[in-house]
Amino acid sequence: MRLLIVEDDRDIQRQLAGSLQAAGYVVDIAGDGEDGHHLGATESYDAIVLDLGLPQLDGLSVLEKWRKQGIATPVLILTARDSWTEKVKGLRSGADDYVVKPFQMEEIVARIEALIRRAKGVASSVVTIGPLTLDTAQGLVYRDGRPVIMTPLEYRLTAYLMMRRGAVISKTEITEHIYDQSFDRDSNVVEVLINRLRKKLGTETIETRRGQGYVLAL
Ligand code: CA
Repeated sequence: MRLLIVEDDRDIQRQLAGSLQAAGYVVDIAGDGEDGHHLGATESYDAIVLDLGLPQLDGLSVLEKWRKQGIATPVLILTARDSWTEKVKGLRSGADDYVVKPFQMEEIVARIEALIRRAKGVASSVVTIGPLTLDTAQGLVYRDGRPVIMTPLEYRLTAYLMMRRGAVISKTEITEHIYDQSFDRDSNVVEVLINRLRKKLGTETIETRRGQGYVLAL
């Protein structure tokens, strides 16, 4: 899963990125409203963390612009303490949830996880499909009840395939959701990664649809 953090405070930026990366997410960062708006409008994210007090363009305006443009990515806003008007305005402008500053990183991670599950129509943090179980709270995948040892990249791809069960997922979609911006999207690493996963999850687990992409065949 790929996230965008729009936050100008460098310390909070660093803490957020660190905690969310540790939880298995790929994270892009924007330090002002204009940059944040641009990234959110042009890249594919599974969720966005948006601070409301931002230079160049304030968070509420960024959010309103995205929603007007039809960008439906789930957004978690960061609001100042005791400012209930900010929360109300944020929710009315299309935010999906909010967290009040100062916050615990665990709360952000849990709320982001819940937002993504809701957006993908998955009710619980534990998803079982055939012999595979994904536990997003623990960041683990089990095969026949036993944990599968995975690299962060392998975990992200497995989680994405399981959250999007039944859908054919193109290589482009995979690279957009499991790698950050610096990744060379023309390379063949997706195929290599898929083959590695097949060895760990079972050869039949991931089906190739020629010219279209991959689907979880469970
Ligand atoms: Ca700020």
